[in-house]
Amino acid sequence: MSSFGYVYDERMLEHECPYDETMAERPERMAIINERLEREGLLKEAVRLDVREAKEDELLLNHPIEIIREMSALETNEACEKFCRSHEILWMSPRSERVARLAAGGCIELVKAHKEGRIGNGFAVVRPPGHHSYGRSPMGYCVYNNVAITAKYAVEKLGYKKIAIIDFDYHAANGTFYSVKDDPRILLVSFHSYHRGLFWPYSQDFDYTTKDQSIFFPLNCAMNTESDYLAAFNHVIMPVLKEWNTELVLVSAGFDAGYYDMMLDLGQSIKAHG
Ligand SMILES: [Zn+2]
Repeated sequence: MSSFGYVYDERMLEHECPYDETMAERPERMAIINERLEREGLLKEAVRLDVREAKEDELLLNHPIEIIREMSALETNEACEKFCRSHEILWMSPRSERVARLAAGGCIELVKAHKEGRIGNGFAVVRPPGHHSYGRSPMGYCVYNNVAITAKYAVEKLGYKKIAIIDFDYHAANGTFYSVKDDPRILLVSFHSYHRGLFWPYSQDFDYTTKDQSIFFPLNCAMNTESDYLAAFNHVIMPVLKEWNTELVLVSAGFDAGYYDMMLDLGQSIKAHG
């Protein structure tokens, strides 16, 4: 049986908002996941991979040099706050850009280990998250788009020809969509909520943008039950991935559609992520 790869690095806890304690994206999010996996004994057989910062040429696969330089030059809390004010729902500290490089680098190392046969499947617990970020637009707590960088690394550097990204976070994978929509080697599936414009990023586009390389599942009034969710996987996603001869599946796993998340207030209650 092939091994399970695991990416986790406490340096990613250093990404902390220095000027607003109310932010939902906080270090405890990843520490709790790791503690639970440890406590349940699920990491006993795991192959732990070393995490490194993504290099500039790797970040450049998905982001222009200007935004990389601008974010890596943020040296004070004041400079971070000023920079973030011009981006939607974003906070950073002077450590954040380096931590974001660790998140992207950790994901790359996971896929590289898989390609080299050192692991079968794997799980990368990383932050800051990435799926809202694209081009020169970090936003929604996301600095670099970890999954888009990893997918592009996999096709450009590791020789994969067909990769699927499955994003089951409750928010639209807007950043991932804009990052990969023109690459015929990468197929994107995104579950998301719109709720008649109440739900960030407030764009109805993703309810209707399904075409060749992207499949969108709006979780609005319908599509809010366990069986709807499983049916989408069993009757749409799995057949499409098989027919497309997908070589690698990257899951962009945001758990805010889960039953115990605070998003439950908006009617979402999925327990099927496992
Ligand atoms: Zn989300």
